[in-house]
Amino acid sequence: MKKAILTINAGSSSIKFSLFGIEDNNLDLFYSGSVDIKKDHSVLKVIDANNEKIKEDTISNTDYSFLFQQLITFVNDTTEIIAVGHRVVHGGLYFKEPVLVDEVIIDQIQSLITLAPLHQPHNLNAIRIIAEKYPLIPQCVCFDTSYHMSQSSLAKLFALPRKLINDGVIRYGFHGLSYEYISSVLNSQLGEVGNQKVIALHLGSGASICAINHGKSVASSMGFTALDGLVMGTRCGTLDPGVIPYLMGEKGYSISEVVHLLYHDSGLLGVSNNISNDMRQLLVSNDPNAIEAVELFCYRAACEIGQLSISLGGCDALVFTAGIGERSPIIRQKICDYLQFWGIKLNSEKNNANNKIISDESSSKIVSVIPTNEELMIALHTKALCCKN
Ligand code: ADP
Repeated sequence: MKKAILTINAGSSSIKFSLFGIEDNNLDLFYSGSVDIKKDHSVLKVIDANNEKIKEDTISNTDYSFLFQQLITFVNDTTEIIAVGHRVVHGGLYFKEPVLVDEVIIDQIQSLITLAPLHQPHNLNAIRIIAEKYPLIPQCVCFDTSYHMSQSSLAKLFALPRKLINDGVIRYGFHGLSYEYISSVLNSQLGEVGNQKVIALHLGSGASICAINHGKSVASSMGFTALDGLVMGTRCGTLDPGVIPYLMGEKGYSISEVVHLLYHDSGLLGVSNNISNDMRQLLVSNDPNAIEAVELFCYRAACEIGQLSISLGGCDALVFTAGIGERSPIIRQKICDYLQFWGIKLNSEKNNANNKIISDESSSKIVSVIPTNEELMIALHTKALCCKN
């Protein structure tokens, strides 16, 4: 049977996975898919490396542990899983690189749950279920924060008392696996400019921007938690911290209500007055609240680009990635319109075709679309840690 590495990205309402065959030390994507957990059933979808549907099954169960067993049974039918790699959102001060899972690591990940309440509990749940049901399969955890460890202490500091800074209340940055992948292909995709000052925009349901110099993270729009920075699907992004005591002192919000507000009810969903957190739906809506939510998303992204260019001391190229970044010409155009004073100019034809290079020849900087591949990054790290020959 063929040997394979399974990558897992476990969220609250879905488990995304990919299966990479491993032969002669090379990785080869067999298929990928998701288990979407609905109210009273779940749906397992699998597509092959060419995006062709292999399987779509409804499962009359929503229990996480049961679904993992279904998933592993399905995968094990055709391959031998020799290692599992997980995306874990927050590595705090503990994790500068991917590590193999053991009890101590599990406890450390557990202690970081309050820093990423939307994601971390589900990441951990997946690790625990596999450790319990399949104790012989080694597991590797890859953190979204690790890539940003290269940032200077200045880029990481909040202006808070030293005691809190020493306790780890600093900026960490997220989407590190996505930026690590983008960095790894910048040179092959963009040539020499890829080694210079690049601002990469990961625009998905969660969204952030990263300043990259010679492949290393210099600064990020995300901070202590994955709330900071850009307007996101349901997260608020940058907020005057004074809003929190106002909500709690004057409006009677409890801590959990504030957390819910900032993570689940804000962002595109909140500003559009609950029309949608999905950019596609907002882009076809004529409602003024939806239109303003889209405009705010783009304005704030452009403002962050300006700020990150200071961290880099310039900017040679912009790279768009993730769901919105890879597929929405209109959002890319709106963001770049704010940067006309830099001499940035898109070529509409190339932009509408989602080409690799979408800037016009007369543009002062290269603007590019590069699809991200967090799963491949996880699989590479997992192979490096678990498959030493
Ligand atoms: P995540 O992995 O964080 O859930 P994705 O990277 O898949 O997110 O991005 C999801 C976002 O991408 C959603 O807001 C969705 O509306 C948006 N999106 C996907 N395709 C398009 C498109 N063609 N035009 C605009 N937005 C799109």
